[in-house]
Amino acid sequence: MKYTLATAPLTPRFALLPSRYYSITPPTPLPSPQLLAWNAGLAEALGLDPDPAKHVQLAELLVGNLLRHERPLASVYSGHQFGQWAGQLGDGRAILVAELTDARGQIQEIQLKGAGMTPYSRMGDGRAVLRSSIREYLCSEAMAGLGIPTTRALALVGSSEPVWRETRETAAVVTRVAPSFLRFGHFEHFYHRGEHDAVKELADWTITHFYPECRDTAQPYLALFEAVRDRTAAMIADWMGVGFCHGVMNSDNMSMLGLTLDYGPFGFLDGFDAGHICNHSDHGGRYAFNQQPQIGLWNLACLAQTLVDLVEVDNLRAALDDYQTGFERTYAERLRRKLGLAEWRETDWALFTRLLDLMQAAGNDWTNFWRGLSRQQASLRDGFLDRDGFDAWYADYQTRLAADPQTPAERETVMLAANPKYVLRNHLAETAIRQANDGDFSEILRLQRCLARPFDDAPEFDDLAAAAPDWAASLSVSCSS
Ligand code: AMP
Ligand code: MG
Repeated sequence: MKYTLATAPLTPRFALLPSRYYSITPPTPLPSPQLLAWNAGLAEALGLDPDPAKHVQLAELLVGNLLRHERPLASVYSGHQFGQWAGQLGDGRAILVAELTDARGQIQEIQLKGAGMTPYSRMGDGRAVLRSSIREYLCSEAMAGLGIPTTRALALVGSSEPVWRETRETAAVVTRVAPSFLRFGHFEHFYHRGEHDAVKELADWTITHFYPECRDTAQPYLALFEAVRDRTAAMIADWMGVGFCHGVMNSDNMSMLGLTLDYGPFGFLDGFDAGHICNHSDHGGRYAFNQQPQIGLWNLACLAQTLVDLVEVDNLRAALDDYQTGFERTYAERLRRKLGLAEWRETDWALFTRLLDLMQAAGNDWTNFWRGLSRQQASLRDGFLDRDGFDAWYADYQTRLAADPQTPAERETVMLAANPKYVLRNHLAETAIRQANDGDFSEILRLQRCLARPFDDAPEFDDLAAAAPDWAASLSVSCSS
């Protein structure tokens, strides 16, 4: 028998931590909630009935009008925003309402994002608008489909409750799921308050539940830091491979589990631009596409600072020094598969960089270029401004492939599994949002279906693989969500 959200046994874990890490905060009721999207696959993985019709009062549960958890909570964290210490932040609109054991025996935290004010709402209203909730719902699942570590989204619920941003919008709630929403900012919070025993307790808790392999090493806290460093580097390498730009890599948005977390003004590259800034509010380009690897390091330095009472500073410094090499190793692994190579050679960096220079000049569509390269499409050269340059590059690429042991068919298979056909382009999300604002939610579901299998050719989704139309150039996304 499958559980429903109303019957699944609760298995609290975060909620059993001492109260200094959170405030017990019930959600604020939201009138007339309407289930707009449901992730049957994730429900199943959570050990829940995939059929939403089997869940009684589902929409009410998913906005927190009905509560199961005796200890709904908002956690407290701090963080560095745009390079500045921002002090206390915390879950200003996300409330942990349940912890469930999934079908594989892992505890998963269930958060309702947009469930109302908490002690950490500061100037905010505790709500999330439908527009940004659709983006978070779809992108969480698009990233999962791409095989990139991410928080997940179980459901999207809309309501008629007005919410004011630049204009009047309506409130929505995304049901987020992750083994933990612990951020670098949780550690920063207690370190900067001088509560070093809390940092230690949090580090021990993190090791126990998420990094048990660190416990038996000579220096568990250093091992923890190195593991977080490696997962962060791997996550960012994944982002760079698919052209994902997070947009707000503040240290409070960095997951201790190396999950892509807090979808706001993110964007996937359309035409390649190394310095692409997807967040309209990021005037200086701190979080531009090509800055992400080094911002990962900057944020890890913030995390390292919180561990100075637990780990020798020289060891932390050495661990940070190794970040770049580790990042390059994992990035090379992604690029190896994107280019269809059996092994990566040091000289392949130059081949890759030359390609990027050519793409930068012409602004080729990132996703479609790689998909086309996977099939050795002759028409690719038409997309370049410097066609002679591309011909020369392509000839060198062919020479490189001639030294590679894979057959063309094997190579194509590898490349098609590394170069997605479909990503959540801004204009696709925007189309779904516009239709949703007119009461039609079908495009959300269509995108969800397509993006769950982004590497498969699906003729019915051909339109979703097209490069951005001209009107997409005027779209802007910012933090006001
Ligand atoms: P973000 O930019 O989404 O990472 O959010 C930064 C901080 O602002 C976090 O502490 C959020 O919980 C909080 N926040 C963002 N939007 C709201 C809102 N509408 N109401 C309350 N808190 C919010
Ligand atoms: Mg955030």
